[in-house]
Amino acid sequence: MKKIALVFLLAVFVPSLVLAWLAVRSLHGQQLILERQQWLLYQGVADSLARDADNILLAEQHEFGSQVESLLSSAGTSNISTSFNDQLSRNWNQADIGFVVTDQGVLTCPAPSSGPAAQAFCVDNSKFLGNRESAEVYWNGNRVGQNNYNPSNLSNVTNPQLAANITSGDNSSVNYLNNSQSKQKRSVVPQQQSLQSPSEIDNQQYSKVSASEAEFRQLVGETTEGIVARFVQNKLTLLLYHRSPRDKRLIFGAELSLARLKERLTPVIQQLDPAFSGEIVVALLDDGAKPVASSRPDFQTNWKHPFVATEVGESLPHWEMAVYLMDPAKLARSARTLTATLGALIIFLLLAIGFGSWQIVSDLNRQITLARQKTDFVSNVSHELKTPLTSIRMFSELLAEGRVTEPQKQQSYLNIITAETSRLTRLINNVLDFSRMERGEKKYDFRPCDLCCLAREVVETYRPHLESNGLQLETGYPASEIMVNGDRDALAQVIVNLLSNAEKYSNGQKEISFQVVQLREPLPHVEVRILDRGLGVPPGCEEKIFEQFYRAHDSLSSGIQGSGLGLTLARQIARAHAGDVFYQPREGGGSCFILRLPISQPTG
Ligand code: ADP
Repeated sequence: MKKIALVFLLAVFVPSLVLAWLAVRSLHGQQLILERQQWLLYQGVADSLARDADNILLAEQHEFGSQVESLLSSAGTSNISTSFNDQLSRNWNQADIGFVVTDQGVLTCPAPSSGPAAQAFCVDNSKFLGNRESAEVYWNGNRVGQNNYNPSNLSNVTNPQLAANITSGDNSSVNYLNNSQSKQKRSVVPQQQSLQSPSEIDNQQYSKVSASEAEFRQLVGETTEGIVARFVQNKLTLLLYHRSPRDKRLIFGAELSLARLKERLTPVIQQLDPAFSGEIVVALLDDGAKPVASSRPDFQTNWKHPFVATEVGESLPHWEMAVYLMDPAKLARSARTLTATLGALIIFLLLAIGFGSWQIVSDLNRQITLARQKTDFVSNVSHELKTPLTSIRMFSELLAEGRVTEPQKQQSYLNIITAETSRLTRLINNVLDFSRMERGEKKYDFRPCDLCCLAREVVETYRPHLESNGLQLETGYPASEIMVNGDRDALAQVIVNLLSNAEKYSNGQKEISFQVVQLREPLPHVEVRILDRGLGVPPGCEEKIFEQFYRAHDSLSSGIQGSGLGLTLARQIARAHAGDVFYQPREGGGSCFILRLPISQPTG
């Protein structure tokens, strides 16, 4: 038993508890896990939309190049160098101003006198374009690859002259490298910093796009096209440039119309996957963290604190593609629901394991007890068989040898032999009946019979045996017959078993009472009561004594032999007759066993 319990404990119970403990531990991190999953998902959305926005700028850049080439092919370089602004505005509405600057830094177009817009452009840009002053720029020349905006990465610098300057350490006129190290704060602070390491959080605060001081000519270098972003009086200016193979000395450029650009970027935001549209709002924020376009124009929030955000890149410096949760409390709610569900599941599993373990242990106990009882049964039955056989043999030998001559003694010996034989028969009948019942082969011969008469017959047959052992049997029967539908032999067996127990457990008290009582409530029934003044059944064993092989007074401690089958059989027989056998402690000490049967024909 101990070994099995140990194996069970080590192989099932302890591992289950460890697993449950691990599961409970993992519950604490649920909100963090959910947040991280959402963070990864929405960061992916923001990254992809930011790339789309960047690609639109790249498309603008290529479109500008095509416009320049088509104007050059129709009008020729010399004609166009002064009228480029007018010609471009006629064909392409994405630019506010078109400009042409020579290799030497001479701005041939637009003429400041051609209008207020041109004049303002020249005031803001002529010195920078004419290489007379360096300016803080976010440069993205000749955008062959994407996201090349880390100027500190030499391999990404596609301007050979600039790269040469950087590698040779000649930064007398280009402060590119120096300034590229200066970190600039991002315009937004994403909320999901709890999911990152301190160094990641630190990086998150700063923009990946660095401003650099440079002159226009140095930026352009040998590249054929590109985009230069700069802030003039805190307003973003995007300058596209294109150098045609037809005349490498001229650089054609255009200041992009931000209003038109916003119009082109809006559909990118609004093409948000419908699967996300109920969950999040995506907004493109300008450098002041103001929404330029949003997937839900009616949505309002603190724009500076998105759930996640991605910078568009150096072509739109400090512009962010930001994702906001429509219902920020939903995440906590989902985490709570998930935790509660998992918690309930774990509790349920633990209860199931506990219940299963308890079932296994109690079944194991039952099996072990049954096995022990069976062993006891075999030794008890052998003993019970041996005792009457010894007496029968001894007295029959005495009689056979003719040594007992007194007729009284002879009669007494014969009585003993008869009593022991019936005791043997009773035991063998019980064992045989029990095994028949176990196999479901026990058959009853139900017939109407008078229980009073049957009881009287059985008692009177048994009386001499009891009286020869000094017991006094007091009986009480009703005056009229009581008809039950029953198997006479089986019912007689029940009465004999109960009488024989009253004798066996009498503990020296010689008084046995046998009564047959007819009752009308709740239904007409009859009770056969056998009462003794003996040991009584110990408290707590009142029902167990009806279990197979169970003995409340075992042979060792009480010295009383028995098989533990008599009451089991009595109850099974009674129940087969729609009745029952049960125990009641007798008032004043002793036992009262009652056989209750329904009456088949009620009598007056
Ligand atoms: P057994 O062969 O052991 O008597 P039974 O099934 O007839 O088997 O009885 C089961 C147990 O019930 C007995 O071992 C005994 O402990 C208890 N018992 C039965 N009858 C009596 C009684 N009249 N008084 C006290 N205990 C009894």
